[in-house]
Amino acid sequence: MAIRSINPATGDVIETFAPAGEDEIEAALAKSADAFERHRRSGFADRARRLLAAADVLTQEKERLARLVTEEMGKTLAASAAEIDKCAWVCRYYAAHAEAFMRNAQLESDSLKSYIRYLPLGPLLAVMPWNFPFWQVFRCAAPAVMAGNVVLLKHASNVPRVALALQEIFAAADFAPGVFQTLLIEPRSVETILADPRVKAATVTGSTRAGASVASIAGKHIKKTVLELGGSDAFIVMPSANLDEAVEVGVKARTLANGQSCIAAKRFIVHADVYDDYIERFVGRFAALRLGDPLDAATDVGPLALARTRERLDKQVTETLRQGAQRLTGAQSRDGPGNFYEPGVLAGIPAGSPCHDEEVFGPVALMFKAQSLEEAIAIANDNRYGLGSAIWTNDRAEAERAIDEIEAGATFVNALVASDPRAPFGGVKSSGYGRELSKEGMHEFVNIKTVTIA
Ligand code: NAP
Repeated sequence: MAIRSINPATGDVIETFAPAGEDEIEAALAKSADAFERHRRSGFADRARRLLAAADVLTQEKERLARLVTEEMGKTLAASAAEIDKCAWVCRYYAAHAEAFMRNAQLESDSLKSYIRYLPLGPLLAVMPWNFPFWQVFRCAAPAVMAGNVVLLKHASNVPRVALALQEIFAAADFAPGVFQTLLIEPRSVETILADPRVKAATVTGSTRAGASVASIAGKHIKKTVLELGGSDAFIVMPSANLDEAVEVGVKARTLANGQSCIAAKRFIVHADVYDDYIERFVGRFAALRLGDPLDAATDVGPLALARTRERLDKQVTETLRQGAQRLTGAQSRDGPGNFYEPGVLAGIPAGSPCHDEEVFGPVALMFKAQSLEEAIAIANDNRYGLGSAIWTNDRAEAERAIDEIEAGATFVNALVASDPRAPFGGVKSSGYGRELSKEGMHEFVNIKTVTIA
């Protein structure tokens, strides 16, 4: 099937691509293996120089690249531009720190000398999503290429123009052909690629379904995987919180990337003492959000990226309302061209309903009432996902308890959950395993070799 770039705000087809066939895939694998042999021997200074050049390309081409993102997946231009800036940051961060992260670590031993040496693995397959189509790729590729690995990208089918732009950025930064390659392929080709002995590992950012499928293929071939999957982050609000801030950040956290972020706050768990006050303010802010053309600077929320994303959201909301939830504002499809969906808020979400149990990937906030911190944490953990989480409180003991007891890869206190090149990022439970970013992320795709010299 052709890979089509469709503007989600209009439904217009921008461009169509034929998926790579067997010969093209074979050529890319050969090029990748060949590039690895040279790239692994290049020095850190050389790699860093090129990655800094990539950061410069991103900065210089920010407007054009941001427009590509907005046209293909529908988030606002300001959000797309911020994403490009973040990519430049991650390149500069790893250019500066990768060598230190890869430095030999001395070990105590009975021999003359023992140490850990960190060595690259080889070609990595990166299966990536469309919601932050540059960032997700750079946060995996920047540490990978600095470690001496090379990358084969299978991007989401709805962002082929971004996928090709990524390859161009690496080429413009003077990385050898084969260090970073984009493959326009269908998901079924992933099996062939992963089975190939030249490919050493895979990283998936996407749905739990896609992660499970890729990991099972990788498992068959005993290849390492890192999985960054879905989330249904809890956002707990306690009575001592600064409610103004908790409302502002809550609205922002739920509407990032038009509500399609893995670490969006999805479940708002509010203490009964401040529940009515919080909900009233939150609903007021949500009802005032401007839904519209993502190229218009006045727009707060653009369309959903895919028609199927909107259909799924619509079904989840309709069924949850049928089971007894209340709609406090919005939460419905808008007629006309494009995948527009009105930002909405639901409360009284019954256990067992889709919005209770599943990831809600769109601008719909789910409100839960808790009588105590204990109950708030229990609600937070009563979910298959464990990616990010937030607690809003000015009581230190409450914050400490939440940090220890919420089952998630991150807990932010009085702050927006966000990824950062300096901090490990990843989840537990069905949100995946392994980490990206920081030193920990870089070490996921290296051979941690023990060396002992007698
Ligand atoms: P998706 O359908 O899983 O797609 C993600 C990527 O996986 C795409 O490249 C897709 O290719 C590919 N894919 C899908 N099924 C596959 C299979 N069976 N075998 C191999 N590859 C497969 O996810 P999405 O709907 O685009 O993205 C939303 C999901 O990603 C949400 O659950 C979100 O929470 C998660 N996400 C997680 C993180 C994180 O860091 N944890 C970050 C962003 C998004 P095609 O497009 O060709 O189908």
